[in-house]
Amino acid sequence: MPDSSSSAPEMADNCPQHVDPATGHPRPPRREFKARGSFVIRCEGCKLPELNCLCPYKVEAESGVQVWLITHPLEHNKPTNTGRLIADVLAPTRVFTWYRTAPDEVLLSLLTDERYAPFVVFPDDQPDYAHRVVDIEAVKHERKQRIPVLILLDGTWRQARRIFRKSPYLDGLPVLPLRTQRLTRYRLRKPASDAHLCTAEVAAELLRQAGESEAANSLDDYFDAFNHSYACSRRYEKIETPSPAMKRLLEKRHAQQCASGSQA
Ligand SMILES: [Zn+2]
Repeated sequence: MPDSSSSAPEMADNCPQHVDPATGHPRPPRREFKARGSFVIRCEGCKLPELNCLCPYKVEAESGVQVWLITHPLEHNKPTNTGRLIADVLAPTRVFTWYRTAPDEVLLSLLTDERYAPFVVFPDDQPDYAHRVVDIEAVKHERKQRIPVLILLDGTWRQARRIFRKSPYLDGLPVLPLRTQRLTRYRLRKPASDAHLCTAEVAAELLRQAGESEAANSLDDYFDAFNHSYACSRRYEKIETPSPAMKRLLEKRHAQQCASGSQA
């Protein structure tokens, strides 16, 4: 929706607000506040700017390990959110919105469901839950009996920490930290450190370590296509030649469409 405050009357150049009172020099014109990208025309399907829509690259992958996202409410509607990419690629992915005082009933019942072995993905940097920390071998081991589930806390690092600390129903779960040397490739938000992977990257990396390489590769490529498409759209650049990741996704999609066509 257009911001009605953007229709403020234009001020003359000699308006006092345009002059620095200390130096008398003209100030640069004040820029109106606009949420970044709020004026961009977006695709209904992928929420990316239409200039470089992601929909042609959407593929599905199978995985013996599931992902459930607990998403901070402020993160949900951000088009730069990468958690939703996981749900695009892995159909059984579940997305829950986190409200501190109103835990999701479906999530609570799933956490007690015997079919699943949930792990909460979180750094092991605090001593008070050191006894709950496990490694990826625990995920692989569970797969013999149950469906391992990676619970990802989807938000900024601050929000994720808050979800981890303020959700008593997560207190009994094993904590799985991501151990990797990989650095983030995410270009849409500035991370505090290149070692902070975004949600889709964390999922891809843990799936790979758990032995789900097909799902991991598809998600990695899909994230790469998202990152590339979005970054180009911000520069108003139309992608003319698909990147290597995009080419792999197009091939995979084509193969999936042929396979589903021959079944019909
Ligand atoms: Zn689209």
